[in-house]
Amino acid sequence: MDIIVCIKQVPDSYDISWDKSTGSLSRQSTGAILNPIDKNTLEAALTLREERGGFITAISMGPDQAEEVLREALGMGIDKAILLSDKVFAGADTLATSYALSCAIKKINRFDMVICGKESYDGVTGHVGPQLAEFLDLPQLTNSTEIAVKKNKVLVKQKIEDGYRLLEASFPVLITVGKNINQPRIPSMEDIMDAYREKMIDIWRGEDLNSNTEGFGLNGSPTKSQSVYVKKLEKGSAEILKGEPDVTAKRLVEILKEKGLL
Ligand SMILES: Cc1cc2nc3c(=O)[nH]c(=O)nc-3n(C[C@H](O)[C@H](O)[C@H](O)COP(=O)(O)OP(=O)(O)OC[C@H]3O[C@@H](n4cnc5c(N)ncnc54)[C@H](O)[C@@H]3O)c2cc1C
Repeated sequence: MDIIVCIKQVPDSYDISWDKSTGSLSRQSTGAILNPIDKNTLEAALTLREERGGFITAISMGPDQAEEVLREALGMGIDKAILLSDKVFAGADTLATSYALSCAIKKINRFDMVICGKESYDGVTGHVGPQLAEFLDLPQLTNSTEIAVKKNKVLVKQKIEDGYRLLEASFPVLITVGKNINQPRIPSMEDIMDAYREKMIDIWRGEDLNSNTEGFGLNGSPTKSQSVYVKKLEKGSAEILKGEPDVTAKRLVEILKEKGLL
């Protein structure tokens, strides 16, 4: 089974800065990590490959430093890594991000399954998986907590608000996974060293994608941020309520009313 996994690099810090002209985060200025849930997407793909054989390609769109997350994915055991990195991709909202990823996936052409995380740690929109499925005209099975392949069908257990649903689809398919689907493996030191010393990462620019470049980056992004601000964290003091439960409960209700929370 040929699987494509989309992974994102996210800031590893609250110490962030903004480009006020575009309303976007200055990613070069922050430390960065692999989006935590994308470790689960990689683990899901690796588990399926162990069960059924196949080939795993990971794609990330981001600045040159996003190579780091692809090295991590190579260390975990994927077969091929592709970085979409070009000025033309900069300023992309979720639509332009999904469009660029879909162009890369169309270029790869051969795949049975695309796996994304349910949401990122920074943007948290959960848009990219479903939008990607639309661009690729694929059935989408979202927020999966279990994946099984039976003959030519894929079955997933999908977490919904008050329980689970069992869904099935034919290949090719796009699946988004939740955090509880698995426990991501920790690569050995040797595998990490190999990922840095032995493995190649393909870098694809906008012009490599044989597509309408108008759809990339800021040009292809209908979202316009009106303003951005960093919320100041209030340094509050804790009030500890002591005494008999009926007295402290009354006081708690009063406090919540004073704060407009009841
Ligand atoms: C006006 C505007 C300008 C922006 N400019 C920039 C910019 O210049 N640079 C920038 O980095 N961000 C920019 N962003 C943010 C960017 O649009 C989002 O980070 C991106 O679309 C992913 O959205 P999300 O974080 O909500 O991901 P979600 O949809 O929550 O992510 C779900 C899953 O999609 C996949 N995924 C998401 N993003 C990527 C990716 N980049 N590569 C591979 N897989 C991915 C992963 O599997 C992830 O787990 C901008 C946003 C706006 C609104």
